Amino acid sequence: MSKVYIFKTKNPKQVYQHLKTVSARINGETVLIKPNIVIAAKPHSAVVTDFRLVKAIIKYLKESGVKRIIIGESPGLNVDVELAFKVSGFERLAREENVQLLNLEKAETVEKSWKFGKIRIPRIITESYYINVPKLKTHMQTLVSLGLKNQKGLLRSEYKKGFHISWGLDEPIAELAKVVKPNLTIVDGIVGIEGDGPLLQGKKIKSNVCVFGEDIVAVDAICCRLMGIDPFSVPHINIASKIGIGDIEPELAGDDIDALKRTFKLPNMDYFRMFRLLNIRNKNACSMCTDSLREAMKMTLKSPRLFIKYMPKWIYLILFKGVQFTAGAKPKMKDGKGKVICLGNCSMKYAEEFGYCAASGCPPSPIEILKSL
Ligand code: SF4
Repeated sequence: MSKVYIFKTKNPKQVYQHLKTVSARINGETVLIKPNIVIAAKPHSAVVTDFRLVKAIIKYLKESGVKRIIIGESPGLNVDVELAFKVSGFERLAREENVQLLNLEKAETVEKSWKFGKIRIPRIITESYYINVPKLKTHMQTLVSLGLKNQKGLLRSEYKKGFHISWGLDEPIAELAKVVKPNLTIVDGIVGIEGDGPLLQGKKIKSNVCVFGEDIVAVDAICCRLMGIDPFSVPHINIASKIGIGDIEPELAGDDIDALKRTFKLPNMDYFRMFRLLNIRNKNACSMCTDSLREAMKMTLKSPRLFIKYMPKWIYLILFKGVQFTAGAKPKMKDGKGKVICLGNCSMKYAEEFGYCAASGCPPSPIEILKSL
């Protein structure tokens, strides 16, 4: 049976002590740490793994005699990787700790076979002891974003897109863990995200916990229980358990799970609504595509020129006419009147077929979205 450790944790530095307490065994001279740096977000946003927690892990690794430490990540589609590393604090951490920071979008890869044909994973992962360090978050497409989901960030963009537009999201997330499985998963649950996560539309929640173990499914399942979510109700965790990746009902150690449980608000997996505006959520669309709408609105508010040009259009659509944004290869719609705007190249055929407005791009730029209003 797999064992999962739960520790009440208010300060990222405590993670060093937790690893010491359980005498976590690190095998190998090279360690790859995979945090969650999905966008260029600040450490206190809770959207990205707290770099101070990774610093505590590095301290433990160095003391354990690890010779080479690499922090690797491939952030979300079209995210400026350098900026994401800088804003999240990881660029500075790597410099100060003298460890390598690797953009996995550009790293050398090796080919593996998997359920959906062939996939390429970073070569470094096959040569390292691999530690997965996700956040504790809800997710509007997959219900939660934990260890299994964080592995998608090991892959190049072409495969990330395939998860959404070709393979159905939940199953490839589970299947990926057959191709590549962490030796250790350490979940940064000191401050989590609830509601419409995993990005800035979610809300921060002080969850004060760190969860870790060698079995990625077991760790994810316990995190779900800490969030008040039945792990069997999370499709990708359920599938991973069924295909034998790990144990969904593991043995527990450390602090009492009941004392640390919080009830996380669940995401609205169907749509985001603001008066008569609907942004339809869809597993077949990359989150960066649906999320680009938020960027377009933010840009309108920030730029006086765009504000003058587009704010009257937003007001008209949001308060009077109604508008729904939809994305992905199989876009979803809600009944209702108003304008329909298709976001992203995947939905262009659909827009043409039904005569809807469209913002092209992969994902569409905020400017393209504003032009489509
Ligand atoms: S257009 Fe959007 S949904 Fe399609 S691959 Fe690009 S980002 Fe993903």
